[in-house]
Amino acid sequence: MSRTILDVDSLFKKYGDVIAVDRITFQVNEQEIFGILGPNGAGKTTTLEMIETLRSVDEGTIIVDGLNIRTHSQEIKSRIGVQLQSSSFFEKLNLTELLLLLGELYGKLVNPQNLLREVNLCERSKSQIGQLSGGQQQRFSIAAALVNAPTLLFLDEPTTGLDPKARRQLWDIIQRMRDEGKTIVLTTHYMEEAEALCDRVAIMDRGKIVANAPPKELIKDLLSTGFKKERMERFATLEDVFLQLTGHPLKEEQSL
Ligand code: ATP
Repeated sequence: MSRTILDVDSLFKKYGDVIAVDRITFQVNEQEIFGILGPNGAGKTTTLEMIETLRSVDEGTIIVDGLNIRTHSQEIKSRIGVQLQSSSFFEKLNLTELLLLLGELYGKLVNPQNLLREVNLCERSKSQIGQLSGGQQQRFSIAAALVNAPTLLFLDEPTTGLDPKARRQLWDIIQRMRDEGKTIVLTTHYMEEAEALCDRVAIMDRGKIVANAPPKELIKDLLSTGFKKERMERFATLEDVFLQLTGHPLKEEQSL
């Protein structure tokens, strides 16, 4: 049984009258790809940003690698990697220079070539962000999140806006990082992505977690209720699980 690296208990957050995160509890194990899956407004980003110490917590507990966020937020920051949007990088610097600069900010000596290799971008080391494709920019933002050698990496909708090929390339990179020992927590509203990529998913809807298990298990549980989908090669998908649990479909386009 692997070690719990993230322990979230009864987490609650309100914006005015809007309850964004409604007393959710979940754990993430070391070397796991854990997906938080849900439609727009479900509370995924708010959850992630509270864990990343970027938003305040109203109620509940977050423990990262044994450290409580209320008392050890600085130590937690040094152990986690957070993916920034590509628009937040200086446009004038090339990829190597950007990684060196980020290293300085963290007080870490970095090897840009090694980081770029992690995300299959070695050949673009002298390019600027604006010269990269969308998929390459996303991959670079993951390299940037690896600068402080985090054990726990957070990716907020890492493949949104990417074409199917770029999306699959990113899945391969994320799986490789998991295989090399990292733990990855990501959000997505793509059902197929969660099914193909995640070891375990928490399905979130209107601030609550309505299911938390490996995708295959959720589908098996649904099938065991007698659920059958007509004219499908597969009997049920994760999307069917979501629909069954929440009573409504995702609003966004889900196909890859
Ligand atoms: P998306 O997929 O669109 O990013 P999400 O699942 O990440 O959605 P959140 O961004 O966490 O959801 O939003 C959850 C709820 O909280 C929504 O109703 C949203 O409108 C609200 N919300 C989020 N941030 C704020 C804020 N800074 N001020 C007020 N309300 C907010």
